[in-house]
Amino acid sequence: MARKKIIAGNWKMNMTPTQAVELCATLKDLVKNDDVDVVYCVPAIDIVPVVAAVKGSNVKVGAENFYIEDKGAFTGEISAPMLIDAGVEYIIIGHSERRDIFGENDILINAKVKKAFAAGLKPILCCGESLALRKAGTYKEWISRQIKWDLSGITADQVKNLVIAYEPIWAIGTGETATAEQAQEVCKLIRDYIAELYDADTAAAVRIQYGGSMNAGNAAELLAMPDIDGGLIGGASLKADFGKIVNYNK
Ligand code: PEP
Repeated sequence: MARKKIIAGNWKMNMTPTQAVELCATLKDLVKNDDVDVVYCVPAIDIVPVVAAVKGSNVKVGAENFYIEDKGAFTGEISAPMLIDAGVEYIIIGHSERRDIFGENDILINAKVKKAFAAGLKPILCCGESLALRKAGTYKEWISRQIKWDLSGITADQVKNLVIAYEPIWAIGTGETATAEQAQEVCKLIRDYIAELYDADTAAAVRIQYGGSMNAGNAAELLAMPDIDGGLIGGASLKADFGKIVNYNK
């Protein structure tokens, strides 16, 4: 069965609740495409107004972060049951900004993937190499290791419902996009590695996105690649151009 493309915006720490509702209104008619799953991953404070703003539309809502406990003395954190109660379906886990700025390691990321599945959230698990690793030529080993650690103890049935985002750090927010061939190479590598860790059916089912300066101009070429099943989009998800990415095939 063909994999449905998934285009997800990662709003990061942008958009006040008022701006978030305005952006939803701007994008409302631009992000309709039955061939594609559309997700807005938004800051915690925007979740409730964004869920209300996209109600009845094709847009699903994701969160950008959560903690692995259900409740308790974890000042500043937000839990999976809170997200689900608010109407969240997807959760970004392991974004390079969480890894690099907030010190999240693969042990915590693996615990988050487990918790997300147990709670009924769909993880968008990010992986990707730094410029130094790309230049050193060791990026394939690095990414395989991230996948192995982050999916430790995760079942094949769970992986079939997982989204993996390949995001080379050197392409995030830099305006420098991986070429379609570079992105395809790593997305295929990830799929082949899933086949090795699990089986061919699981590898055929898992959806693998590319992320890193994807925009209206380069989306069609990237999304035409056989192992690229969508995009995780930062900067370009905050403007009307996001609609052009969602409609890359029209
Ligand atoms: C991201 O942070 O997930 C991302 C891909 O950002 P950008 O599109 O701005 O490079």
